[in-house]
Amino acid sequence: MNAGTGSSLPETRFQGLGVSPGIARGKVFVHRPELDATPQYTVREEDLPAEIARFESALLLTRTQILDLQAKIADAIGANDASIFDAHLLVVEDRTLIDEVLRTLQRERRNIESVFEQVANRYASLLEQMDDPYLRERCLDIHDVTRRVVMNLIGRHAPALSEVDYPHILLAPSLTPSDTALLNRQYVLAFGTDAGSRTSHTAIMARSLCLPAVVGLHDVSTRLEAGSDVLLDGYHGLLVLNPSAQTLREYEELERRKQSVEAGLVDLRETASTTRDGHHLILSANIELPDDIPMVKAGGAEGVGLYRTEFFYLNKARLPDEEEQYANYRQVASEVLPHPIIIRTLDLGGDKAIGNLNLPTELNPFLGCRAIRFCLDHRDIFKTQLRAILRASALGNVKMMYPLVSGLEEVRKANGVLEECKAELRAEGREFNEGMSVGIMIEVPSAALCAPELAREVGFFSIGTNDLIQYCIAVDRVNERIAHLYEPTHPAILRLIKMVVDAAHAAGIWAGVCGEMASEVTLTPLLLGLGVDELSAGAALVPRVKRAVQSLEMDVCRALAETALRTDTPGAILVQCEEVARRYYPDLLG
Ligand code: PEP
Ligand code: MG
Repeated sequence: MNAGTGSSLPETRFQGLGVSPGIARGKVFVHRPELDATPQYTVREEDLPAEIARFESALLLTRTQILDLQAKIADAIGANDASIFDAHLLVVEDRTLIDEVLRTLQRERRNIESVFEQVANRYASLLEQMDDPYLRERCLDIHDVTRRVVMNLIGRHAPALSEVDYPHILLAPSLTPSDTALLNRQYVLAFGTDAGSRTSHTAIMARSLCLPAVVGLHDVSTRLEAGSDVLLDGYHGLLVLNPSAQTLREYEELERRKQSVEAGLVDLRETASTTRDGHHLILSANIELPDDIPMVKAGGAEGVGLYRTEFFYLNKARLPDEEEQYANYRQVASEVLPHPIIIRTLDLGGDKAIGNLNLPTELNPFLGCRAIRFCLDHRDIFKTQLRAILRASALGNVKMMYPLVSGLEEVRKANGVLEECKAELRAEGREFNEGMSVGIMIEVPSAALCAPELAREVGFFSIGTNDLIQYCIAVDRVNERIAHLYEPTHPAILRLIKMVVDAAHAAGIWAGVCGEMASEVTLTPLLLGLGVDELSAGAALVPRVKRAVQSLEMDVCRALAETALRTDTPGAILVQCEEVARRYYPDLLG
């Protein structure tokens, strides 16, 4: 944190939910992607040439901005990803569109921004109804470019997130996981959003990017202005406007304490995640992008327990083909060697929408065509990924799992597609690991309840508590209004975890937890006591969990789990967990 001097303006505090630890101070940048209403007025005949001139300059300026952005993205994440902007350039050069705008201007004599917006929107809705998926995709490009041209015409420039090139604290009504993937890590010091929750994928991304973040700040993005001086505290979920000298002193002290705890954790890298009485727990890391691998190594994780492959699909002009995916999986797997990596098949849907597929909007996306359901519905996309994973499995350390399984038939269908892919690869003479372990995520209550049957047909279970909690308690994981109901220590969740672990052990397979519960050191003793064999935590949080495991004894953990399983409220169970955590590692707690 850059403390500097305190503000002479009155300090104001906004309370939200801290979802990614750390403290940052800086100037606000407000990202409000929605466009305010475009002005509309009539123009006189003699002013038409001036309107045309304004239009031409706006198109030119837009073209330059797109080229600049393309160059920046190519530098940051590669030329392939920057190719998405080729389609944007085609829109500003589209003669049919431009001629139609000029004809409408002559006929209707309205200001050029309102004419352009109307014509471009009509054009986009025509494309949206086409059968050809390529043409349908172009409608998104038109909307994007229309926004940019109109902004330029009304003299307002709304920079895209990746374009902001000075250090700032980003405030926004909300951020999608794709927005977050595009954040320029060099300049974004932290972010705060009006909406959001702890287990949204945006929050998960923030933790893996090590960016302090606070969500659920209500209407803060409309109350604060760009350039305001703020301090963001990701530990306590606070945003402080105009921090006073006293506040800055307190935060400097807090930061010093946190840094000394973090420094102690660095030494744990080469040590095992074994309890004081010698019980070894496999501690692995969750990753979203190959860039996270250095942190997996630095944190001393025993491999990757969850690779969320869908992030590789977001922000792309088209879906990655088999070769691109194979190269990606192979690279990540070889960097993790000799440890294992569990590649999760695509989990699109829910809060991870993918723009370039043009999928129908769903009323309840978290209950809709998501994850394994989407893959079984789009066999080509699924097979491309399975073939790429199988080929990468030749390295020997690759395992794979299906997300959002709700029952046995889904597993059998998915395995059927997998067998088809294996047969193809055999026929093509391509190498893969015939014995690759295939597991499933347990994140739907029906799967937890049918765990004994599922355990007979799969290689392992990885419990996705983020979704298991949302589906079991019926509480939307990204809705901040009901975040207080999202309780990992709900007795129902404990019972489901226990059932899943017991069913796994009875069938001779292992069961891990890869949801955010695995990263919360307060809950480590409980999960150990429930018999979980593996914890896969956010890559940046692995050292803290390792320290917690090393401080504990299994007798204490089992006793805690037994008591907790007999306790009837989430609050009381949480208190029991906190009591054990405070006894063994007080310095790791908030
Ligand atoms: C989960 O649901 O717990 C999980 C790990 O998957 P995701 O957060 O990607 O939905
Ligand atoms: Mg999930």
